Amino acid sequence: MTNCPICNAKIVNKSEVTTYTYKDHSIEIEQSGKYCTKCEEVFLSPKDLKSTKLKIANFKREIDHFLTTDELKRIRKKLHITQQDASQIFGGGIRAFHKYETAEVTQSKPLDILFRLIDSDKISFDDIKSVAI
Ligand SMILES: [Zn+2]
Repeated sequence: MTNCPICNAKIVNKSEVTTYTYKDHSIEIEQSGKYCTKCEEVFLSPKDLKSTKLKIANFKREIDHFLTTDELKRIRKKLHITQQDASQIFGGGIRAFHKYETAEVTQSKPLDILFRLIDSDKISFDDIKSVAI
């Protein structure tokens, strides 16, 4: 694609800072893509979308008071367990933690609360293992 399918003007590969708004909060994100030089239409490939997906997902998580992908990963590593182990203990399917940590899916609120309690040492991993099957 070298010309805009809408106005037929030239399109260029570039990166622009755009404002993303969620629940009255805004962040500036740099979005790469193909930009039309005339009608200002933007064409985003899956790769372009992937580059901003994580940042947007974590921005939403912070506003909704959910642990971010990095925080979730940090707490899991604190327990010295793999994503697969975590998925087995806490449920959600074998790839659950992979999905949470790559922002494909947001973890459930109960899991989020549990991880916060683990992180603040209010619940030990032994406590959890003693009741989990
Ligand atoms: Zn155009």
